[in-house]
Amino acid sequence: MTDANFTGSFTQQEPIPEEGIAAAMEVLRHGRLHRYNTVSGEVAETALLEEEFASLTGARYALAVSSGGYAMATALRAVGVGQGDTVLSNAFTLAPVPGAIASVGGRPVFVEVTEDLTLDFGHLESQARATGAKVLLLSHMRGHVCDMEALMDLSSVLGLTVVEDCAHTMGAMWRGVPSGRHGTVGCFSMQTYKHVNAGEGGFVITDDPDVAARAVLLSGSYMLFSRHRAAPGPEHFEGLRLDTPNISGRMDNLRAAILRPQLKLLDDRRHRWRGLYETIETGLKGVPGLRLIVRPAEEDFVGSSFQFLLPDWDQARIRSLIARCSARGVELKWFGAPEPVAFTSRYDHWRYASPEPLPQTDRVLAGLIDMRLPLTFSESDCRLISAIIRDEAMRVGQGEVEAVAHAPLAD
Ligand SMILES: *Cc1c(COP(=O)(O)O)cnc(C)c1O
Repeated sequence: MTDANFTGSFTQQEPIPEEGIAAAMEVLRHGRLHRYNTVSGEVAETALLEEEFASLTGARYALAVSSGGYAMATALRAVGVGQGDTVLSNAFTLAPVPGAIASVGGRPVFVEVTEDLTLDFGHLESQARATGAKVLLLSHMRGHVCDMEALMDLSSVLGLTVVEDCAHTMGAMWRGVPSGRHGTVGCFSMQTYKHVNAGEGGFVITDDPDVAARAVLLSGSYMLFSRHRAAPGPEHFEGLRLDTPNISGRMDNLRAAILRPQLKLLDDRRHRWRGLYETIETGLKGVPGLRLIVRPAEEDFVGSSFQFLLPDWDQARIRSLIARCSARGVELKWFGAPEPVAFTSRYDHWRYASPEPLPQTDRVLAGLIDMRLPLTFSESDCRLISAIIRDEAMRVGQGEVEAVAHAPLAD
């Protein structure tokens, strides 16, 4: 038991490293922010960033773009998704994922998730057979990675091209393979709440030269694709350049300058995030009625957020727990709320996709609690946060559901 309240901010990230600030100042001083605006002999920060991200992930090709959502849409177009095509995706994901599918004229069809918050392979198989879908946009939502070898085997049996949404797995690995390197394409986000922060930004990585060339052209390279250093040779652009639309979504040199030093910190960030995650996990072990998510040993995850389940808790109890934690400074998000709140929405809120009901996912999401863990938290902060959740869960679990149960949910 603790009486202390938590006073930290769940949305405060670390500052940009000094090296990034200095590099950004240099870009501002010379004024060449556009990636193709270089002087003779100069290599743009954006081109260097791509080269460094390709080397970090082991991908042959990397393209930096304006957002994670744009990266996914570009990847889908580059693998051939067009008007009316079905694209499968996890029912547990974030709004930009079905949004990327819709933006290319595709039809999102959702696949059930398990209690471990990963894709249900049985349902993937039946949805793939029922729809004839050719593409799976696999979202490693909140950093939970499914058995990637099994997924790739099943996808090849089903004839599915896999595009990975790695917004929450930049820097993570499955059995030592960097996330984003199993599927045909990996997509990442550099938005402020992800693992490197440029405000906005995205990466597309692939080993396929035609997919890479299409992605570069789509991103708005005009006819300057030869300035890219992590792109295929000119022969791969020849047959495509007049047939691929320019859908501008480039990265710029200012954001690239801020990002480059952060790539070097990814390993260290993964370790620090893991420390925070494990502190919360230890603190919540054994709380009656609260189920922790099992993390497979193959998954070297980045613990930038924490999830747990309250299976079979009724809505009033869950609202009461959230309100009590909030009153003590601990911001919990809930995927079971009937209406979307800020970043938290659910597959059945995406009405434009005409989602079919998914009873298994509904059951999981009804009791799913989510919490950000910014790196500005210390392990002692995480001990306090988990102690508060533990105390309040025990109180609410003992039947203290009050008027607060109907209080509005926080952002
Ligand atoms: C943030 C996020 C993205 C990409 O989002 P952008 O805001 O467009 O960079 C994609 N998938 C998931 C699961 C995300 O959380």
